[in-house]
Amino acid sequence: MKPFAQHQVVIIGGGAAGISVAASLLQRNRHLDIAIVEPNETHYYQPAWTLVGGGAFRPAATRRAMHDVIPRGVKWIRAAAAGFHPDVNRVELADGEQVGYDYLIVAPGIRLGWDRIEGLVDTLGANGVTSNYGYKLAPYTWELVQNLKSGRALFTQPPMPIKCAGAPQKAMYLSCDAWRRRGVLDQIDVSFHNAGAVLFGVEAYVPALMEYIKRYDISLNFNESLVAIDGPAKKAWFERKDAEGKVQRREDQFDMIHVVPPQSAPDFVANSPLADVAGWVDVDQESMRHKRYANIYGLGDACNAPNAKTAAAVRQQVPVVAHNLIRDMGKTGSPAYYTGYGSCPLTVQRGKIVLAEFGYGGKLEPTFPTWFLQGMRPTWKAWFLKKTLLPPIYWHLMLKGREWLAKPKLKQETATNGASS
Ligand code: FAD
Repeated sequence: MKPFAQHQVVIIGGGAAGISVAASLLQRNRHLDIAIVEPNETHYYQPAWTLVGGGAFRPAATRRAMHDVIPRGVKWIRAAAAGFHPDVNRVELADGEQVGYDYLIVAPGIRLGWDRIEGLVDTLGANGVTSNYGYKLAPYTWELVQNLKSGRALFTQPPMPIKCAGAPQKAMYLSCDAWRRRGVLDQIDVSFHNAGAVLFGVEAYVPALMEYIKRYDISLNFNESLVAIDGPAKKAWFERKDAEGKVQRREDQFDMIHVVPPQSAPDFVANSPLADVAGWVDVDQESMRHKRYANIYGLGDACNAPNAKTAAAVRQQVPVVAHNLIRDMGKTGSPAYYTGYGSCPLTVQRGKIVLAEFGYGGKLEPTFPTWFLQGMRPTWKAWFLKKTLLPPIYWHLMLKGREWLAKPKLKQETATNGASS
């Protein structure tokens, strides 16, 4: 048999979850032998792409070279993982090499299904077709918003789960606000096409959002999915199921369309023994440990814990995984658990945000007291938090293993909570 590299801890993915969990493990034990499997040279702070699309953040400030964010002492394996052999504790890489581990952490994020909408890949970034879900595309959103003076602007949302469930409408509100400020909103017909049946999954935040839907005169279309697009002809096709379950197809015209692609677990996870029936890494939603393989953890967008897929959730999951894994290695003490905390800063206008923070089952989990930040109402403080405070918190605290407001809760303790990302 070919010799293969072996590490105490192998982490799949050098995104928000992978880098942070490596750093948090090293904060607990700096002698650990950790390797991160990550094919990309660049690390992105994706939560700021909404602001880029709204002209409120520099695109370059959302990226860093991967070698600058990988913690010192961690081995970077510059390859894509292609499969898992959990019975022999090995990961398979795309080039056929194998890497062995004592403990495995799986965090390769979510797959963006641009290819699942007919015609989309051919026209993305041109002909008025954009998306804040791509680093290179978000600046095009702002370019389109600045140039549009009249016509039809469509914003789409695919079926759940997606990362940052609020991002499809955040793009819409910031665009409408820019048009309102320029005095052209009245000449632009704005509509939201949501594959889901409600505006936002946690009811408590819907009234504030509805005020903005009215203010911007947005027409809402629920249970409707974008299925095809023809950029040069400026046409989009939507499908919806009627009461009898029959699929109706409808054609629409646009001058600008902001598309959020359908999303799924990465194929190499979905086709592996680690997957649940839907393809996600199958973890216990409190401990984040794999349900069948005790030396494997999953976190971030790729796992099946039913939290909102956000960097804010990752911030709370990371200390739980780091704590529990160190405990597996022999440290005494109670296990840590994750409450399902996730956060969605809903950018309803430039300078104001409704900061949605909630755990499993939509239970509200505000970080700050209501006298300081009214979570259900738009505030400038939440905007300041998102635009000015959270990016350095991400780069300098979260990615460095400094668990600010994210101390893991231990089993016998009662829960307090942490902050958003
Ligand atoms: P990622 O950060 O996506 O990292 C996954 C990593 O895995 C990547 O580096 C990738 O290259 C790597 N990888 C992929 N395939 C493989 C493979 N085969 N082998 C090895 N590595 C692999 N969150 C918030 O908290 N607040 C927000 O306001 C917010 N807004 C958002 C707005 C937009 C437009 C978007 C796109 C996201 C937003 N998010 C927000 C969500 C947040 O960015 C994600 O939830 C977070 O990045 C998830 O972290 P992750 O590590 O699971 O995945």
